[in-house]
Amino acid sequence: MAIREIRKFPDPILRRKCRVVRRIDDDIRKLATDMVETLIDAEGVGLAANQVGILKRVIALHLPEEDPYWLVNPQIIKSEGNREVDEGCLSLPGYVGIVNRSISITARALDQNGSKWRVTAEELLAQALEHEIDHLNGIMFMDHLLEHERLREVGEEPEPGETHLHDVNYNIQAHHHDADPNPDLLIAKARLSEVTPEHSISELAYDLQDRLRTDHEDH
Ligand SMILES: [Zn+2]
Repeated sequence: MAIREIRKFPDPILRRKCRVVRRIDDDIRKLATDMVETLIDAEGVGLAANQVGILKRVIALHLPEEDPYWLVNPQIIKSEGNREVDEGCLSLPGYVGIVNRSISITARALDQNGSKWRVTAEELLAQALEHEIDHLNGIMFMDHLLEHERLREVGEEPEPGETHLHDVNYNIQAHHHDADPNPDLLIAKARLSEVTPEHSISELAYDLQDRLRTDHEDH
């Protein structure tokens, strides 16, 4: 294994589309294990092959408290909901910005044995998969910055005086009884952008916006 150089924005390779991997051979395994080592060294959550200069559809992931792993030809096959998250990238060190990501995604890929891998994920794993698969398509997180949002340096506070509250979508699991194995998943919206200092928290409008997934098969 070896640590590879992480390409930094505006290196044009970050805007190139990576090619589908036809066969998981020794070259791919070497690339992928190097990417895992590079990711651990950089203390990142995810890394895509074009970030180390190789135009192949390989990503490495390292979520907190989990073992790192790599995937080949990952694809998002379903995404639901919308949320705003603070995000950064190893190819743009020192900067973060608020972007839109899905609440829940389903992805598929090949694992390191060449077996089919599939996951439905939320939170950081969903965000990381969207971020890394974007990389494979030449897309960087700055492309998703919200309209009135800008990149800020790590540690920099949002500008004072300027409203920095976005409407936030989030999900709620509605359990109909204590042991309900199939809670309804609802998307709610908190209109934080409409909150002013004169508002009390109780005036905040919560809209149940959309019913994502209902499973009443057992009822
Ligand atoms: Zn990145």
